Amino acid sequence: LTVLNEIPELPADALFGIKQRIAADDRTPLVDLGIGAYRDDEGKPWILPAVRAAEAKIHADTHTYNHEYLPIGGLPALTRGAARVLFGDDLADESSERIVSVQSISGTGALHIAAKFLASFFPERTVYLSDPTWANHKAIFEAQGMRTATYPYWDAATKSLRFAEYLAAVKEAPEGSVFVLHACAHNPTGLDPTQEQWEQLVQAIAESGHIALFDSAYQGFASGSLDKDAFAVRLGVEKLRHSSPVLVCQSFAKNAGMYGERVGCFHLVIPDQGEETNATVAPAVRSQLQRIVRSEVSNPPAYGAKIVGTILDDPVLTNQWHDDMVTMASRIGEMRRALRDKLVELKTPGNWDHIVGQCGMFSFTGLSPAMVKRLEEEHAVYLVSSGRASIAGLNAGNVEYVARAFDEVVR
Ligand code: PMP
Repeated sequence: LTVLNEIPELPADALFGIKQRIAADDRTPLVDLGIGAYRDDEGKPWILPAVRAAEAKIHADTHTYNHEYLPIGGLPALTRGAARVLFGDDLADESSERIVSVQSISGTGALHIAAKFLASFFPERTVYLSDPTWANHKAIFEAQGMRTATYPYWDAATKSLRFAEYLAAVKEAPEGSVFVLHACAHNPTGLDPTQEQWEQLVQAIAESGHIALFDSAYQGFASGSLDKDAFAVRLGVEKLRHSSPVLVCQSFAKNAGMYGERVGCFHLVIPDQGEETNATVAPAVRSQLQRIVRSEVSNPPAYGAKIVGTILDDPVLTNQWHDDMVTMASRIGEMRRALRDKLVELKTPGNWDHIVGQCGMFSFTGLSPAMVKRLEEEHAVYLVSSGRASIAGLNAGNVEYVARAFDEVVR
């Protein structure tokens, strides 16, 4: 009993803590710019038309509609289709013998599988995370006993990428280190390397024999195009073909609006060592990934996987999904411009162009923790204390209110 009595209580999770405070706050207007979840122009969660159509299709097929277990590795329609979304048809076909894919509990579960796999077979390697990064990265890798370190990323003074230092860190890291790379729409900064910079980074990763781990949680949100946003992943798979394993953790939470259904995949692309070796490595890796899944969740959840798998298996629904992605990315883009324009109109001290220059769901506003606190207390505008704002929480009805609140706390 004394053991139980001595367990320390941890502070609430920063992000989910905001959710709790919002639930207990009855002020109006109230604006949630905390968690990264898409909202429509009325501030409501949006069920994608492609998802609605897929659900209707699943329910209409009374012969196959059921709630049976999936295989350990997940729903083949999902894992196969998901690999095509990431790698593109050509690369997926060409590398199919070297790509091992298993379904995961959304992006977090994919990272967890990656961490367990690395802890099993590469336990001595350090996992490098961008500074800053999504808060859960460190926790997920360290929970498996992996050592983590950071590489320079964001320069707060200039609101730009510390590219030279980032590249130097890749080159200086011990050979075979693991680099966690945000595939696109970096969280929390909304700032990605240019294509030219990606070329240099991937080249340095190849030369050092590092392991590249792409975290792809926002494919489609940077540009509106799923293909364009896969640039870095595809470049990595091509350029690291003979040097490094490429791990990809893929989430459909945001781009299919499947947040709570936990749909994702983990993919491992094996370096090309010739047909004979490839043919023995892939099944071995697959068996190890299945061991990890089996001992933890036995088999992954089916319902969301069927929805996304149905979209990916049906060209009409796939096109609808691509259109839905454009709808989301465009509305976020409009809100970025509206917020920046209002701040300029109000002559709010400072330069606000970075709000428009950043991509994806988030803007790293540059507001200080004290300003963020005041926004919440005085204006009922909630964002993360780092100053990260989820732009998806803005709409035509609240953007002016938010700009005025920013203006008040900045002055
Ligand atoms: N990686 C990054 C960078 C993220 O921002 C998120 C979601 N906030 C995830 C992974 C995983 O999200 P989920 O488990 O909901 O797919």
